[in-house]
Amino acid sequence: MDLKQYVTTVENWPKEGISFKDITTIMDNGPAFKYAADEIVKFAKEVGAEIIVGPEARGFIIGCPVAYALEIGFAPVRKEGKLPRDVVRVEYGLEYGTDVLTMHKDAVKPGQKVLIVDDLLATGGTVDATIQLVEKLGGVVSGCAFIIELEELHGRDKIGKYPIKTLITY
Ligand code: AMP
Repeated sequence: MDLKQYVTTVENWPKEGISFKDITTIMDNGPAFKYAADEIVKFAKEVGAEIIVGPEARGFIIGCPVAYALEIGFAPVRKEGKLPRDVVRVEYGLEYGTDVLTMHKDAVKPGQKVLIVDDLLATGGTVDATIQLVEKLGGVVSGCAFIIELEELHGRDKIGKYPIKTLITY
């Protein structure tokens, strides 16, 4: 399937100069959404994933159907203050300032093989912080999968030592 035709590009949103890749037009199309999830399921099987980890919010949308199909768990990565129990936290750099991502301390078990899933790989800052969280918990990152990769931002360079799967590139 040519998945790219279901992505909607919104220029200059949320601010001037950003070319936003809207995946809601994949999600609201049954066959396209299923295809995207199935492709990531195949990769998850190849890398032997035992749990899916996804950052909020679009990592939940694509990560959960993958976990469901594989009958494995899903662990959320959230902004600070959103998870109710003890967390590990990682501060990471944004274009302006920093942000914090967290995971529950018991979300991933030591030695567990993790596939990180998100909608889009841009600079790689989000996935890099997510890798650090998983590794703090003793998890083994067996791969990272994204629906979309923005190649010109070179996010792949940040996570080059892990297997990476992307379905659409710009
Ligand atoms: P980054 O940390 O720079 O790799 O950015 C990845 C995160 O930001 C993902 O969770 C995406 O949902 C979001 N994101 C970054 N750039 C875009 C974009 N151009 N279109 C849609 N989402 C984006």
